[in-house]
Amino acid sequence: MESNNNHVKILVLGSGPAGFAAALYAARAELAPVVLTGTQLGGQAALTYTIENYPGFPNGVGGAELGELFQKQAEHFGTRVEFDTANRVDLSTRPFKIETDAGKYQADSLIVTTGASPIKLNVPGEDTLLGRGVSYCATCDGAFFKEKKVIVIGGGDSALEEGLFLTRYASSVTIIHRREELRAGAILQKRANEHPKVNFIWNTVVTEVLGKDKMNAVRLKNIKTGEESVFEAEGIFIFIGHNPNTELFKGQLKMDAHGYIEVDHLMQTSVPGVFAGGEASDPHFRQVVTSAGMGAAAAIQAIRFLEAESG
Ligand code: NAP
Repeated sequence: MESNNNHVKILVLGSGPAGFAAALYAARAELAPVVLTGTQLGGQAALTYTIENYPGFPNGVGGAELGELFQKQAEHFGTRVEFDTANRVDLSTRPFKIETDAGKYQADSLIVTTGASPIKLNVPGEDTLLGRGVSYCATCDGAFFKEKKVIVIGGGDSALEEGLFLTRYASSVTIIHRREELRAGAILQKRANEHPKVNFIWNTVVTEVLGKDKMNAVRLKNIKTGEESVFEAEGIFIFIGHNPNTELFKGQLKMDAHGYIEVDHLMQTSVPGVFAGGEASDPHFRQVVTSAGMGAAAAIQAIRFLEAESG
């Protein structure tokens, strides 16, 4: 990679809560950070309809609105936000070299907050009917399912939260879970159990999404009895967890078996000067508040790292 004029002290990859919190701290240290937004401005949080557990918002706050506030605050102190995505990094020497869709950067320090993406079921029909009944985002696609019958896959917080959101539009929401016990927290379980539009199918997995131009049903299998059936629905929303967006750093940063970037308690990765936070390095907490906290911590350490170097 060639050198260019885009030499920055701190480059932040990702624009979710971790990315903008990191940028805020770096900007307030007058290091003029640059944020490369990636393809999803605001990260996954921006796709969430309401966030009720971010401190400071007793009545909840829209995910997109919170993302805009994060961005505004980071920019207010001197962050430059580029609607651009990194697609190659060279972390072998400093300054680190980053190639993006639109250009090239050199960075004295890098903060990786590239987040995570939804896991797929990997069943026939899932890819071919994507956007034609298959979705991973209720906030994005829910409104297309007014008075329609939809199913939701998963038993965690996401499945229940998004399932409850879908009741605004859908005529019914059937949550299909592979066990008979939910993983989701008690408040969401209570709300889902009490909602007249929500019902559950237990011990069951989807083996195929059916339909030609549009999805019209799924093939199900009860994993206890082995019994197969076809369940008619016009939408399937899949919330079975996430994979970290860390492909870019494979072979360069130490990762766990699932691809999460390994960081120490100071958010330092295996390469000095590269810090990480949020869901790219956190398979455990995955909250807006914890991601923002990790982003801030990563930036504090990046600032100290650069200060130590300049004496
Ligand atoms: P999750 O907690 O990992 O739950 C994933 C669900 O999908 C589990 O119920 C799992 O079943 C099921 N599943 C996994 N692979 C499957 C497969 N191949 N086929 C069928 N089902 C499958 O993921 P999440 O709900 O996205 O939540 C991730 C994290 O974000 C959690 O820490 C959660 O607390 C947090 N979160 C919090 C909120 C909130 O606080 N309001 C909202 C959203 C997410 P098993 O239960 O059998 O493993």
